[in-house]
Amino acid sequence: MILDKEIKGIEHIVERAKNMKIIDVKTYPVYASASTAISGYLPYGEKLSSKIRRGYASCFVKVVADNGEYGFGESLVREAPQATALIIDKLLKTIIIEKDPLETEVLWEQMFSTLNTRGHTKGFFIEALSGVDIALWDLKGKLLKQPVYNLLGGKFQDRLKAYASSIVFDKPQNMAKKARKWVDEGYDQVKVKVGMGVEQDEENIRCIRTEVGNSVEIMVDANSAYNSNQALKLGKILERLDVTWFEEPVPPYDIEGYIKLKKKLDIPLCAGESHFTRYDFKELVTRDAVDIIQPDISRAGGISECIKIVNLARTYNIKYTPHVGLSGAGCRAASIHFSTSLPTDTFFTYEVYDIKESPNPLAFEVCNSPVEVVSNGYVRTIDRVGLGLTIDEEKLGKYLVNKNL
Ligand SMILES: [Mg+2]
Repeated sequence: MILDKEIKGIEHIVERAKNMKIIDVKTYPVYASASTAISGYLPYGEKLSSKIRRGYASCFVKVVADNGEYGFGESLVREAPQATALIIDKLLKTIIIEKDPLETEVLWEQMFSTLNTRGHTKGFFIEALSGVDIALWDLKGKLLKQPVYNLLGGKFQDRLKAYASSIVFDKPQNMAKKARKWVDEGYDQVKVKVGMGVEQDEENIRCIRTEVGNSVEIMVDANSAYNSNQALKLGKILERLDVTWFEEPVPPYDIEGYIKLKKKLDIPLCAGESHFTRYDFKELVTRDAVDIIQPDISRAGGISECIKIVNLARTYNIKYTPHVGLSGAGCRAASIHFSTSLPTDTFFTYEVYDIKESPNPLAFEVCNSPVEVVSNGYVRTIDRVGLGLTIDEEKLGKYLVNKNL
């Protein structure tokens, strides 16, 4: 009897959700300044650093259904969040308005189809699309009264292995001190920026290894600082220092460089935060260019696209680690739900990018309940309907940038 009642309840929820329509899409281009260095290698850094990378930027997206329910998503933004908002306001909104919010796949294809034959298969357009897709999944979960990980097939893990990210350029002793602090907080995996030149990088990593010992895993991230010859030289040194992965050794378009490095190095190569959609990842995966893929769910095409990207990687026995980086709460919540739905032989480790000296308010302050709860090197899964985001629009509003600038 109870079962009958439950089934009727679920049928009722699904029946009601079926007749929904999207009635509004809102964008929140936001910016929060940071008081400390938050990033790694930047080409022409001495000329550009006063202009860009001064803080946290993002674009949140809200999709509203006609019953008043809504979903939130986030598009990855590094600069000019107004541009992302404009793409959504003027184009993607017009595609999905009046449509059924449950049809995430149909809507993704329709949005992608507007510009994919005009060369817009990467960059701002796909980042904008990613945020809308994530908001649609959040909304779908709320309409069906399920956490998003259940819509993706269920929960493989109750908590996610996590690593501390990232130790930015500093004196080697200071970098080692930072690593020690994270290890003392319970992490046994820490990520370090490289890209200061092979010799300096070696000194930095050696100093950190000496400080934390051999039981702590060290990952390094070059943010595409090197060409393949320089990366090969550094990679051989990193092998001897027992580094767990070498992230973005060369620029994202240098697939031949990745393939060359993969053939000559034993250290696992990791890439994906600067790659978009299944079409970029096809190159990384099928051409044997990397050992670990690292798509950013708010950049690579959202949840709908990351399902395809990770399934492709799984068929090649390649592991997945989400890129989270400087992103806000929307990216983090989506990455946690997505990772929760993956088997442990595919999911590697979750990136906790938390700069304590200047925490990202777009990740923490804008939510009434935190999405990222870390303890002893693990992140808790989010057992709330949708993505479990509790965005406070008043708090988010404090960081809004003028759309006309
Ligand atoms: Mg990186």
